[in-house]
Amino acid sequence: MESFESERAPLPRNMIENSMFEEEPDVVDLAKESPSYPIDSDDVVYEPRSSRLLVRGLGENDLDEDEEDYESSARLLGMSFMNRSSSQRSAASSYTRQQHSGSCPKPSAKTMVVGVLILVVVASLFMVIYFVPGCTFTRKGCPKTNSTMDSIYPISTSGELFPWTELRLPPSVHPVHYNISLYPNLTSMTFQGSVSILVEVLYETKNIVLHSSDMNITKATFENKEVHVLEYKPWQQIAIKFPEDLKKGPYVLNINYVANLSDSYDGFYNSSYVDTNGTKRVLAATQFEPLAARKAFPCFDEPAFKSTFTIKMTRERKYISLSNMPKVNTTDLKNGLQEDEFEESVKMSTYLVAFIVAEFISVSNNVSKTKVSVYAVPDKKDQIQYSLDTACKLLKFYNMFFENDYPLSKLDLVAIPDFLAGAMENWGLITFRETTLLVGSNSSSIDKQLVTSVIAHELAHQWFGNLVTMRWWNDLWLNEGFATYMQYMSIETVFADLDIDTEFLNVRFKALGKDALNSSHPVSTVVSTPEQVEEMFDSVSYEKGASILLMLNATLKDGEFQKGVIEYLQKYNLSNTESEDLWNSLSQVSGQNLNVSEMMNTWTVHKGFPLVTVKRKDTQVTLTQEHFLLNAENCTDNSLWHIPLTYVNDSCSLLSSCKQVFHLKDKTATLTLPGHVKWLKFNFRSEGFYIVDYDEQGWRDLIDALKGNVSVLSSKDRAALINNIFALSRSDKVSFRQVLNLMDYIKNETETAPLTEALLQLGQIYRLLDKRSELTLASRMMSYINDHFGSLMANQSWDLETSVSKMTLRSALLEMACSLDINDCRTQAKNLFDQCLAPNKTCQIPSDLMRTVFKVAAQTDEGWRKLLDMYKHSINDPEKRKTLEALASTQDVRKIIWILQKSLDGSEIQTQEFPLVINTVCKNFAGYLYAWDFVKENWDKITQKFPVGSFAIQSIIMSATSQFSTKTHLIEAQNFFSSLGTKGSQMRIVQEAIETIKLNMRWMDNNLNAPELVVV
Ligand SMILES: [Zn+2]
Repeated sequence: MESFESERAPLPRNMIENSMFEEEPDVVDLAKESPSYPIDSDDVVYEPRSSRLLVRGLGENDLDEDEEDYESSARLLGMSFMNRSSSQRSAASSYTRQQHSGSCPKPSAKTMVVGVLILVVVASLFMVIYFVPGCTFTRKGCPKTNSTMDSIYPISTSGELFPWTELRLPPSVHPVHYNISLYPNLTSMTFQGSVSILVEVLYETKNIVLHSSDMNITKATFENKEVHVLEYKPWQQIAIKFPEDLKKGPYVLNINYVANLSDSYDGFYNSSYVDTNGTKRVLAATQFEPLAARKAFPCFDEPAFKSTFTIKMTRERKYISLSNMPKVNTTDLKNGLQEDEFEESVKMSTYLVAFIVAEFISVSNNVSKTKVSVYAVPDKKDQIQYSLDTACKLLKFYNMFFENDYPLSKLDLVAIPDFLAGAMENWGLITFRETTLLVGSNSSSIDKQLVTSVIAHELAHQWFGNLVTMRWWNDLWLNEGFATYMQYMSIETVFADLDIDTEFLNVRFKALGKDALNSSHPVSTVVSTPEQVEEMFDSVSYEKGASILLMLNATLKDGEFQKGVIEYLQKYNLSNTESEDLWNSLSQVSGQNLNVSEMMNTWTVHKGFPLVTVKRKDTQVTLTQEHFLLNAENCTDNSLWHIPLTYVNDSCSLLSSCKQVFHLKDKTATLTLPGHVKWLKFNFRSEGFYIVDYDEQGWRDLIDALKGNVSVLSSKDRAALINNIFALSRSDKVSFRQVLNLMDYIKNETETAPLTEALLQLGQIYRLLDKRSELTLASRMMSYINDHFGSLMANQSWDLETSVSKMTLRSALLEMACSLDINDCRTQAKNLFDQCLAPNKTCQIPSDLMRTVFKVAAQTDEGWRKLLDMYKHSINDPEKRKTLEALASTQDVRKIIWILQKSLDGSEIQTQEFPLVINTVCKNFAGYLYAWDFVKENWDKITQKFPVGSFAIQSIIMSATSQFSTKTHLIEAQNFFSSLGTKGSQMRIVQEAIETIKLNMRWMDNNLNAPELVVV
């Protein structure tokens, strides 16, 4: 999946860690499947209070009234099993109420009674445990059990005991094949479904447990005999209990059900749009990753339960239906409907299943044996050719690169009018936002860069993710990090003119920024709850994942990375893997005897990344590594990374052949240079995922060299110096004076990467000062920017431009110039708007300048109304999105409130754009407090639309809070997040938000009165 937020927020680290198997055995054991000691199931009633008392030894008065509800208590019980590190949890955690801090209260009579009961139960349990075999408490349990259920089970919806106690499904039953028939009714917005699952019983068991959510099961049969289905809603599981053990072998389970087409963006959901005639059109589409296939059909909804699927779809004649595989048959039904049947699928995970019923048109072309098609609504048929050509070129590239052709005979790319993610890699049926697939005649190369990137990412998933899949969501990065890396690598090769290299560099900087927070998490992280799984779709999985793969590829010899990847894909074809499997494949091809596994584990197991400090005395260079944290207070982290440290010097610094490598594995090491050098620059082209600090002389040498001639270093190296020094300043490792010393060279800079990085960093500081109402300092910062970038800004052309690099640079410069009212930027923008939108227009606003021009225009009533009209009628999605950003940038509070409301209710602005609207409103002084209030007041509605933990929620929270820098706002944010309870208080993004506010406060404390800032 490709997320789609302009500022994809990372953070999230839910504090509940959750292996149920590894720790607190006294707790875990009680929850194991089918222990084999003889307690009659009827004697054991799930009673959450006593269970929790047993488990945790809590006093009764630890529990609040609202925990009386057994379902929520059951969830708490499950959580308590999972929680291994309550001391690490956020104070905001709703689960921390179990923990007492402070002195022990005097026990009440009630507590005493409970205490005695506990002792009796504990003693009984001890005796029981003493006599049962050890295997009872192992992950798989005993191989055979003759006893009845006797553990602590939750209670199903019907009131009966539910025979399973874990979020993960039991390994005893595997699906082999699904026959799925669906009829979505696009008038009633409901659907009927029936699923027939061929399962294989691998271990004898009395239960079949699978996933199902939000559906009404009308009938179920097992081997043609009707069976009773139990449901435990909190974990979205259903179960069928059998009186006797099912023997090993194949069985068939049939389930009929009805459900509503979802109003949110996951599961089998309805989407609508208004065509150019003003008619509302509806369609039904799916988005299953990560956990929503269970909302469309009962299934074993974990990535390792791969199986084959045969899908039939009933529809009205005016619609077409699409699924993963080619259609093989259409049958007329008696009621005027038609049924499409699709070929049996390849073996795949449930989250990759997809189907669509809609009125779409398409264009197609063939690559090798695959028919590639792009689908969109009929009004946009002129915008699909570019993506078809792009997809064909990239498919050819991947077929060749992986030495393993895409295995299906068709590949559809479909633009869905209302779609939350950027795109989703469903096998053979990739779904996209319209913005990420459609390219109009006015679209610029920057728009094409986005579309190309998303297509390249999703096509890479057809191998990484679809063919070979991570075993569980803890290794999501194997899917997303790889697809992200391949998207940059493929575009660099196939579409060299798109300047994707600079984009990838920016992505690495962004990942470093997120990973420098305490709230970050290791690339490979234990996850269990749905919220934790959602949170894995973040900057760490995608961007850090891609960054460490680049570092590895740059460390291996030419061709080794590709060779290792080919072997990996062949070895694990159609199966599931963990990180270690990839490292082993790459180790085997490494000719330099590099232990890839040993090196890369240090990058996937530790959170964060290292700061390498370089101290040079002539030819002796002392290198030290430490965990780089923006806020390192109380940090006792001794993590060490195996860093393939690269460096260049003044005698040779631009070509890859100049690069030297030193493997730094220890805390400190000494590097001896062969001769004298004027300066050293480490982390060549910023290909390694670490940052570098130099001693005073080291920085001075580099700055002097740049002042003499900027070209002594590559533009990537210059951008990296800027990025690194701002990060070091933010963490108090260097003074802001030092930052300004480096920035002195920028007047001679002409390249896009360093200039945009500098503008980004200075812009962030300006916005913080502005929001803090430090008007004098904000004004000085504006003058500083004008002084250092003013002449470049004045020299930018407003005409059509074709070079992506030039467009990226001028849009950054002019957006900053217009927002700060530097030079005559606003006048030029306004003139362009007026000329190009006049009735007899003779000009066209360059696509890369639209956002800047529209934002200026949106500041007047007349301009804003014109833009709103454009937004409503435009069928060009990139233009529409820029128009929306302009509308949201207004300083008029009434308009701000209107746009916030409309984008959440979806009536005039699609709800998919709500995160973008929040992000844009929050950038401006006029709107950021309103946006924060709006988020707080509408939290319930927001989380109905966007799942807790999802990247949309991550983006909304970070946008709304990341510019706070006062204690008042800190407390307000803490109070609000604490009040969310299960609706989000434990999200990792909440910790990131709080940490970010504290960092902003510290920066302000340290710098507001610092002479450097006063004189900028
Ligand atoms: Zn992806």
